[in-house]
Amino acid sequence: MGIAEKATIQADRSDAFDVIIIGAGLSGIGAAVRLQRDCPGTNFAIIERRDAIGGTWDLFRYPGIRSDSDMYTLGYDFKPWSSEKAIADGPSIREYVNETADEYDVRPHIRFGHKLIAANWQSETSLWVLTLETPVGVKTYYTRFLFMCSGYYSYDQGHQPEFSGREDFKGTWVHPQFWPDDLDYVGKKVVVIGSGATAMTLVPNLASSAAKGNHVAALAYLRYLAAFGRCSRQLAHATPASSGGL
Ligand SMILES: Cc1cc2nc3c(=O)[nH]c(=O)nc-3n(C[C@H](O)[C@H](O)[C@H](O)COP(=O)(O)OP(=O)(O)OC[C@H]3O[C@@H](n4cnc5c(N)ncnc54)[C@H](O)[C@@H]3O)c2cc1C
Repeated sequence: MGIAEKATIQADRSDAFDVIIIGAGLSGIGAAVRLQRDCPGTNFAIIERRDAIGGTWDLFRYPGIRSDSDMYTLGYDFKPWSSEKAIADGPSIREYVNETADEYDVRPHIRFGHKLIAANWQSETSLWVLTLETPVGVKTYYTRFLFMCSGYYSYDQGHQPEFSGREDFKGTWVHPQFWPDDLDYVGKKVVVIGSGATAMTLVPNLASSAAKGNHVAALAYLRYLAAFGRCSRQLAHATPASSGGL
């Protein structure tokens, strides 16, 4: 018997659910819409530690933040991405996830500011017992089915390798996961460490302020890409050989 056919548990209680989804990002909102569509009548809640919908697409705010995948495949099947831009900027994706939550009436199911800190299976009751930190203290919730949509990285701390001598650096140190709203980098000499998707996005955006006097160097293998496409041409301009270094 599927969960939809079972009588919902303790429907009058605010702490017991058929399904609890952890996370109100792209996955959690998608899971909730499908749950409502495919298992109507299921009593569910979404637990979200932050005060916003969107997860990654709300948290990351660095210049030029965008998807790497095309949104026609990253978006939902039930709400196809309609913009002509296949590679979308972060704010558009954030808006898309919020719009989905409102269009499918998911928002009222979200407990914002609730952080899951423990989940224990209780064999006697066949329930998950969840411990949550909430704005009014620690709470216990119960659920038959626990759906983890909490992403794959720490929301508290971005990956930060040790760099010896870092304490001697007198400039501003920024991690893209926590980009300050008011960071003024115009006219500054900027070094980007890393060669992943974030660096690929960030470097051209920082370098586009070059006319205003920015110098951007990427400490990575970006020059490898110099043979490929428009983006790599922009990156090549930004790397030390063409910018004259720092
Ligand atoms: C800059 C960047 C670009 C990316 N681009 C792409 C791309 O182009 N294509 C792609 O496929 N993937 C990409 N990713 C990966 C991206 O994370 C996923 O695409 C997608 O956003 C994941 O959605 P999610 O809902 O699974 O997780 P997340 O977006 O990480 O959302 C998880 C949610 O769970 C909440 N949460 C976490 N822990 C708890 C807890 N203990 N209690 C309560 N709530 C909790 C968080 O607050 C968050 O709201 C990118 C990631 C980054 C950082």
